[in-house]
Amino acid sequence: MKYKYKRLLLKLSGEALMGKKKFGIDKIYINRYAEEIKKIVNIGIQVAIVIGGGNFFRGLKINFINRIYGDYMGMMSTLINSIALKSFLENLGITVILQTPMSIGQISEKYNINKSIKYLKEGNVVIFPSGIGIPYFTTDTAAIIRGLEINADIILKGTKVDGVYNIDPIIYKNKYKKIYNNISFKKAYKIGLKFMDQTAFTLGHENNIKMIIFNINKKGNLKKIVCGEKIGTIIY
Ligand code: UDP
Repeated sequence: MKYKYKRLLLKLSGEALMGKKKFGIDKIYINRYAEEIKKIVNIGIQVAIVIGGGNFFRGLKINFINRIYGDYMGMMSTLINSIALKSFLENLGITVILQTPMSIGQISEKYNINKSIKYLKEGNVVIFPSGIGIPYFTTDTAAIIRGLEINADIILKGTKVDGVYNIDPIIYKNKYKKIYNNISFKKAYKIGLKFMDQTAFTLGHENNIKMIIFNINKKGNLKKIVCGEKIGTIIY
């Protein structure tokens, strides 16, 4: 069978790993994501992953520590999440390689684009912890940069909701909301939709990125996307 996307970059936020908890990792949720990823790896899709760290720390939010150290704590959080997902994927028989721009030789290789692509072609999942390894950035920006570097056919952002809405569906639970089938980075930014930070919006727009924001908690969604079904919101 011919699939719509052969190589993809999946972005998972720390919050997605947190599931119903208020902090940390929910094993039911992370296992669910590992199962979903396995389904597409087993049909030959090349999967690279960027994980956030907001379930532990975000530099901007830790007001008792200076911003730069806070950001490093955030980056370390993404490493914790990456190691956890690696473990769950390996339990399902998937080989996983971590590649980070930081120096943590015991558990992760140093990021190397040529090696990343080689590993993907060999059928391994490659996880990129620590974003791009520089304070003041986010893992959404890292997802776009790594997606561009590995020449991903698509960047997928797995969230708890079905796509991009005109108002935040988690805050405004009972209010009427409209979901977009597709929307440009430019328009989304102009009308103030806040599903990513400004740097990520700009990079997406300037580099003609195609991204899909979808619900990672709905069973089968990831595979449906690679098979070409219209799921979530397309950002272009
Ligand atoms: N971070 C950073 N540089 C990067 C990526 C992440 O400094 O290249 C830090 C930053 O403090 C960020 C935190 O790591 O808030 C966790 O990442 P993010 O907020 O993107 O996680 P998510 O919202 O996806 O859970």
